[in-house]
This record gives sequence, C-alpha cells and structure tokens, in this order.
Amino acid sequence: KFDVHIIGGGLAGSEAAWQLAEAGVRVKLSEMRGSGATTPAHHTDGLAELVCSNSFRSDDATSNAVGLLHQEMRTLDSLILREGDAHKVPAGSALAMDRDGFSAGVTAALEAHPNITIVRERVEALPDDGLTIVATGPLTDPLLADSIAGATGSDALAFFDAIAPIVHRDSIDMETAWFQSRWNKGEGHDYINCPMTKDEYDAFHAALIAGEKTEFKEWENVPYFEGCMPIEVMAERGQETLRYGPMKGVGLDHPVTGRWPYAVVQLRQDNAQGTLWNIVGFQTKLKHAEQVRLFRTIPGLQNAEFARLGGLHRNTFIRSPELLDPELRLKARPHIRFAGQITGCEGYVESAAVGLMAGRFAAAEVLGRAITPPPVETALGALLHHITGAAVAETYQPMNVNFGLFPPITGRTKKADRKRMYTDRARAALADWLNPPRSEPVAADS
Ligand code: FAD
Repeated sequence: KFDVHIIGGGLAGSEAAWQLAEAGVRVKLSEMRGSGATTPAHHTDGLAELVCSNSFRSDDATSNAVGLLHQEMRTLDSLILREGDAHKVPAGSALAMDRDGFSAGVTAALEAHPNITIVRERVEALPDDGLTIVATGPLTDPLLADSIAGATGSDALAFFDAIAPIVHRDSIDMETAWFQSRWNKGEGHDYINCPMTKDEYDAFHAALIAGEKTEFKEWENVPYFEGCMPIEVMAERGQETLRYGPMKGVGLDHPVTGRWPYAVVQLRQDNAQGTLWNIVGFQTKLKHAEQVRLFRTIPGLQNAEFARLGGLHRNTFIRSPELLDPELRLKARPHIRFAGQITGCEGYVESAAVGLMAGRFAAAEVLGRAITPPPVETALGALLHHITGAAVAETYQPMNVNFGLFPPITGRTKKADRKRMYTDRARAALADWLNPPRSEPVAADS
C-alpha cells in the first residue's frame, strides 16, 4: 500500500522519494534498471547514478547560483546533497564525489527507509489515477515517452534539445547593438541586432567552418531538422547561406548609417524578466571554449557573458511552461507531477532540486497541508518559476540554474557586488519562507 508512485530512480526520483518518506508518506519507487532494462547512458543498477561527470559544480554559496542551490537543498534535508557531501573528493571549490560511493549511499538510504518500497520494473504507461511523480529523465524509456506524448500532445514533448547560446542582457554592448524588429513589426524592441560588415561576416563564416566541434556518441546520431540545424552545418552549405538565413540584414536599419547592414546577428528575449537573450538560430555543436571565443567576435557581444552555451543532445523533455502548474502538476491530469530533467531543467543538482520540490508538494497534498512554492528570489524558486511559467514556452530549452533566472537586482550596484546581493537576498527569502515573520497582532475591535 502506498500513497505516491514515483517512476524513475535517478537524481530527481530518489530525492522526491526521500522527501516524501521523511514527511511520513508511503512511496513506491519504480526503477527499470535492475529489471533487465536500461538507458543508453547508465552503466549500473544503482539509484541516482551519475552518468557522466562526477561533479555537482561550484559549491560556493555566496557568488554562484548552483552553490546557492546546494546550500538551500542542504537546508531542506536533501538526501542527494547529504550523500554528495559524505562521498566528497578533492575538487577545489567544486563539490565532486566518488560516484559509486554516492550512488550506493543513496540506494542504501532509500532501501532502508520504512516508508519506501523499491520495485525494479519498467513502467510502460502513465497511471490513470493515484498521485504519481514522473522522474524518468532525459532518456525516458520509449513506451512511457509515447504515453507522455499522448497526455501532453506530441508537439509538447521533445526528444532532442537544440540549444542556441543564451547571453546575459547586461553584458551586451548597446552602443554597438540596437533594438529593432525586422521591418519594424511587433513591438519594435523584440530583437537586439548586432551588425556585421562584409569583412566581419567573411571572417566569421570561415571561423565557424574551421571551429572545433563535439562529435556525437553513436546513439546520439540525430537527424537535423531544418528548424534546428547547427549554425556551422548551415555555414558549410555555402558562403551566402547564413546571409539568407538567420544572419540576414534586410529590413533592419542601422541607427548610424540608416542602411541595412551586410549581415546581422539577432538576439531574442528568453525569459519574462528580460535578463536573458538567446542568439537566434545559433544552435551549435561547436566546443564550448570555441563558442565563447567565436561569439565574442560578434560586434556588440565582445564582452558577452553566457548563461548557457549551445548544444545538441538526445534529451526527452516536456514543454513545462505551458503544461505544468506552479506545483509541477500536469494541468490536464493533475494527479501526475513531473520532476527532474524531463521538466526541462538541466544538470544533476537542478534535477534533484526539482525532485525535492515535487516530493514536498506531493507530501503536502497527501497530508492535507498548505504549501506555497519557494519564493522566486531563492535558487529553488527561481528554477521552479522558470520551468512553470517564466520561460517562453515556444522556444523552451533546458537550462541550468543561473542568476539570470532571478528577479534582477535593481538600483545602482557594482557588478562585483551583485552576485553576493543575489545570494544574501535568497538566504533571507528562504528563511522567511521556512519561518514566515509573524504579522503584527490585530486589535480585536479594529
Ligand atoms: P536520471 O538521473 O536519468 O534518472 C531517470 C531514471 O528513470 C533512470 O534511472 C532510468 O533508468 C529510469 N527510467 C526511465 N524510464 C523508465 C521507465 N519507463 N520505467 C522505470 N524507470 C525508468 N548532468 C550534469 O550535471 N553533469 C553531467 O556531466 C551530465 N552528463 C550527462 C551525460 C549524458 C549522456 C546525459 C544523457 C545526461 C547528462 N547530464 C549531466 C544530465 C543528467 O542526466 C541529468 O542532469 C540527471 O541525471 C537527470 O536526473 P533525472 O533524475 O531527471 O534523470
């Protein structure tokens, strides 16, 4: 007998199970590894297996968004962080761990918990009823993926991400770049335009073709769709292809010359706050260091700071901003929650963080307790807000936690102080969320 069924015992499902069980809720955790099935990336039957690097990235909670997320998760009794800390290996300011010890620690804690039953089975369809958390990750088994597509609509489930780089708005040089929509359609300031002369375009085109690319693993061998072809593949089609594609200058009047530039790189707003902008059409397989070097040669982006770099991977994820409510429930079938990378967050820590929130929301529902989502000023809240509403649904692509997802710090501040201001504000907001300040007593006769 159980109250909540979790499908998938990865980073998110394991954390969700722990949070529910610790709240006194009975959980069934279905994991297909150990039943004869597996994914193309996992190598063991252990829960919370780290499929690639053994790092949770920066552990600096004062000036790094993922470090802040670690700290918030520790405050909320995260099993994933507890075992990460317990199996830590030297890695400078990063939190890296012995992957086998980490996974064994998570598995042992869940197996020993009296409120958790682990079943090694492959789930082939979404349950028709009963509180459920789907945490099957970027490599969700195909039969279940079909069932999810049936519930969400097939165009709302992606099997690959095709990611264009995303730039922090305040790092774009607006002396060189300018706001304008092509032919002045729309609001007029929907795009930021970075102009290129013929010489700049030719040099950029040559560098794109020469740039070092990441090769796909065999199972990642994806067909390119016209809508998400890597920019360097498009460049290889011909000298002028980009000038007639994403880099066309027609309909854009340079504010100084009044003429259309030879070529243009356009950026489009990526989040509701307007702090993040993606480079339109620049999905790419160029190596990360190469992207930074090359994209900083674009006039206006010479000081660009990237919230994320481009990439193309196999990745199953749903269009969460339109499908999920603020408590991660599928609006169309509210007994089902999603958690982990399938919601469109990116990374081990973020996946576990969304699992933590899904677990707490589901526990509150079972126990009949009120719960409000964590405030958007916290790393947990900023990530949740991005997934469940702030991101633009049509262009939704997976994202790591970063300060661009937080409400901007307003007023005059030194750039060097800003990160600390984000983390100080987040700590205060989390403390208030956990222990709301008492309101002033109201006089009985007032
Ligand atoms: P997972 O950890 O993948 O867990 C999902 C679980 O669901 C798996 O155990 C799977 O076996 C199970 N499952 C799937 N379908 C079913 C089913 N139908 N029935 C039952 N069980 C099912 N992130 C990083 O931070 N750093 C990295 O270096 C990194 N490298 C990556 C490399 C690859 C090749 C991939 C694919 C991803 C990588 N990621 C990395 C992203 C990483 O996978 C996720 O961040 C994280 O593991 C996602 O957590 P999750 O719980 O959502 O999914």
